[in-house]
Amino acid sequence: MITVTIEERALINEIIAKNNTCYVGMIDTEGMPYVIPMNFGYADDIIYLHSGQDGGSIRALENNPNVCITFCSRAQLTYQNVEVACSYRMQGSSVICKGKVIFEENFDEKVKALNIIMKQYTDRAFTYSVPAVNNVRIWKIEVDKISTKIFGVPHPNSRNYKEGPVF
Ligand SMILES: Cc1cc2nc3c(=O)[nH]c(=O)nc-3n(C[C@H](O)[C@H](O)[C@H](O)COP(=O)(O)OP(=O)(O)OC[C@H]3O[C@@H](n4cnc5c(N)ncnc54)[C@H](O)[C@@H]3O)c2cc1C
Repeated sequence: MITVTIEERALINEIIAKNNTCYVGMIDTEGMPYVIPMNFGYADDIIYLHSGQDGGSIRALENNPNVCITFCSRAQLTYQNVEVACSYRMQGSSVICKGKVIFEENFDEKVKALNIIMKQYTDRAFTYSVPAVNNVRIWKIEVDKISTKIFGVPHPNSRNYKEGPVF
C-alpha cells in the first residue's frame, strides 16, 4: 500500500467537508499541549469555531493564539493478506491546518460565522436571538498552513486497487 500526499485544494475541502468534528490543539497557560474536539464550519480558507465566553481554552488562546486543527475521516480497517499483521492498515484521510485564532466581535460577522458552522451540519436556515449571539465566542482561524494525507490506498499494482475516490 502507499500513502498519497495531495495538494489539490478542492480535494482538501472535500475531505474537511466530510467531517463533523475537528481536534483543536493549542498551548495551555502552563505551556502544555491541550487538544479539544470541536464542531466547526469552513469557508474560503477560514475555519470557524464557537464556544462559551470563558474556559481553559479561552485563557490559553488569549495567551497564545496559535492553533493546530486536525480533521480525520472515519477510518476503515483494511489489509492485503488477512494472515499478515504488517499488511493491515487504516484507510482514511486527514487534514492538518495551522493558524491563529482571532475572536470575532462584530455582531453581523458572528451571525455569518454561526451560519457557516450550522451549514456544516444541516441545510436548515436559522435566526439567532441577540443574547445568543452576544454570548457566543466565535473563533476565526485563517489557515496559514495546510497539509493532507490519504492513508491505506492500495498500490496501483495491488489486486485490491480500484479506480475512483479513495477516502
Ligand atoms: C464531538 C464534540 C464536539 C464539541 N464541539 C464543541 C464546540 O463546537 N464548541 C465548544 O465550545 N465545545 C465543544 N465541545 C466540548 C469541548 O471539547 C470542550 O470540552 C469545551 O470547549 C470546554 O473547553 P475548555 O477548555 O473551556 O474546558 P474547561 O471547562 O476549562 O475544562 C476544564 C478541564 O476539563 C477537561 N476537559 C475539557 N474539555 C474536555 C473534553 N472535551 N474531553 C475531556 N476533558 C476535557 C480538561 O482537563 C480541562 O483542563 C465538543 C466536544 C465534543 C466531544
